Parts: sequence; C-alpha cells; structure tokens
Amino acid sequence: MKVLNTIEDMRSACRAARFSDGRLGFVPTMGALHEGHLSLVRAAQATCDVVAASIFVNPTQFGPHEDLAQYPRRFERDRELLEKEGVELLFAPSVEEMYPAGSVTWVTVEGLSDKLDGRSRPGHFRGVTTVVAKLFDIVEPDAAFFGQKDAAQVAIIRQMVRDLNFPVEITACPIVREADGLAMSSRNTYLDPQQRKQALALHRSLLRVKKAWEGGELDAGKLKGAGREEIAAEKSVRLDYFEIVDPHSLDPIERVTDAALVAVAAYVGETRLIDNVLLPESGLVESPARR
Ligand code: AMP
Repeated sequence: MKVLNTIEDMRSACRAARFSDGRLGFVPTMGALHEGHLSLVRAAQATCDVVAASIFVNPTQFGPHEDLAQYPRRFERDRELLEKEGVELLFAPSVEEMYPAGSVTWVTVEGLSDKLDGRSRPGHFRGVTTVVAKLFDIVEPDAAFFGQKDAAQVAIIRQMVRDLNFPVEITACPIVREADGLAMSSRNTYLDPQQRKQALALHRSLLRVKKAWEGGELDAGKLKGAGREEIAAEKSVRLDYFEIVDPHSLDPIERVTDAALVAVAAYVGETRLIDNVLLPESGLVESPARR
C-alpha cells in the first residue's frame, strides 16, 4: 500500500492506478477505523479493480464547541488495517495541504444541509461536501463508498454529485453494528462502560419503531412518539432529534407508506451519537455482490 501525503502525489498515483488497473473505488474516512469502515473497503473491492482510501480529520465539519481536538487519531493502526484489507492507495494529507492559508471556497448543498444533523450542527455538512468535493477532484474515483450510518450525509453527497456532475457512482453500505446492536462509530471510544450500556437506547428506539410499523402502525407521529418514549426512558440520554423523513429530501413524512428513514441523534454524556433504520430495511442501501 502506498501512503501519499500531498495532493500532487495522490493525484498522480490515482491516475496511474486507473490507467493500469481499471475501475478505481474510493473510501473517505476520518480514521480511528472499525469494522464499519472496513465494510466499505470490502464493498469497494467487490466491484472495483483498485481501492483508495483517505484518512483526514476534516476540521471544517466540526463546530467551534465540538470534539475536533479530542477526535481519536490512530494512524499507524489504521494504516495496518487498510494494508491488511488490500487497499492500494492511502491518502493522508495534513490540514495545511487540504486547506492552505487563504482558502475561501465552499461547496454547499442548500436546503438538505440544514436538515437533521445539519440543523443541530450548523456548517457541518458544508464542511463535509467541501472536503468530499476536494477529495473527488484529487482521487477522480469511478465509485465512492459511504455508510448508511450517516444517512443524511449520503442524501447530501448524492445531491452534490448530481448537481456538480461528478462522474462518480455513489454506493451506500449497510450499518455495521456491535453484537448488542450499537452502531459502530469512532466516537464510541468516548463512552465509559455505563454510558456504553445507556447508548443502546438509540438502537432500541429504532427497533421499537420498526416493530410498531411492521405491526401496521403507519402514522409517523405515533411512530416518532414511540421512539422518543424509548429514549426518554433512559434518563441519562438526551435526545437531539428523532425524525421520520423521506430518505432523499430529508423532509418529514406523515405516513410511512413508502421508503422512510427513521433517524435518531442523542447525547450520552458529552458524546453525540446517531443511528437510523430504513423502512423497509433493505430500501435504498446498495450492497454490491462479490465479483
Ligand atoms: P467517518 O470516519 O466517521 O467519517 O466515516 C467514514 C465512513 O464510514 C462514512 O461513510 C461513514 O458513514 C462510514 N461508517 C461509519 N460508521 C459506520 C458503520 N457503523 N457502518 C457502516 N458505515 C459506517
């Protein structure tokens, strides 16, 4: 695996790989890798000839009072994991390389960026779309792989790719969970053992909604009520949002008759966690078959 730290080196390595090997798949990450990230790498390998990944803790997607400084950084371990998975190219730029002094240009997907996490984290998605657009421009992948764990991010990136005519195919991969249901996240490392148990309320709330929906309840208000009640029952968990929305427009829906995204965000201590489920579950997520 080649590790590239500059834009120029990454760009030429990716061009060479596409020229000699064919279809290039790309997995952008912020590092502190877990099985969720590795599932994206495996999905990329299933449909691409060569796989590139990036590790970059993107400062522009963190708010002023968020966890940029504490965000886990484990480069050596991550590098080994990606090498073991057979990733050929790893891009690990510095902040100065990605945002040289004087950078003032942003990519904003209007409207969508103010919904769900965008409402609670102003500027977050502007940071995400700006860095992903820059990464797409550097890597020029044929396909890029994102986790359904960040469902709003998937909707926003798909919209950006359409609007800016990026020749990149976007695949959303299913959420990878711990054995007890907690969605894997680099931020789970912040949780102490007690909080780790309390955090299960998020998944429980989604399962409760899913069960009620399977039992015939289509009213989104009632379904949301059941989900919020489940979160409220875990006293130490503070709800940010519990919403049922259209998975593309992220607008609230009233009756769950078509594809719906049930999404929750909540604080366990200082740690903000998110999780979601699609109804019906297999809905929009593509999990490419192995070649
Ligand atoms: P991050 O490093 O948090 O920026 O995540 C990088 C990519 O991994 C994003 O596309 C995430 O949606 C995806 N990802 C994170 N956690 C999971 C998970 N539990 N299951 C599947 N994908 C995930």
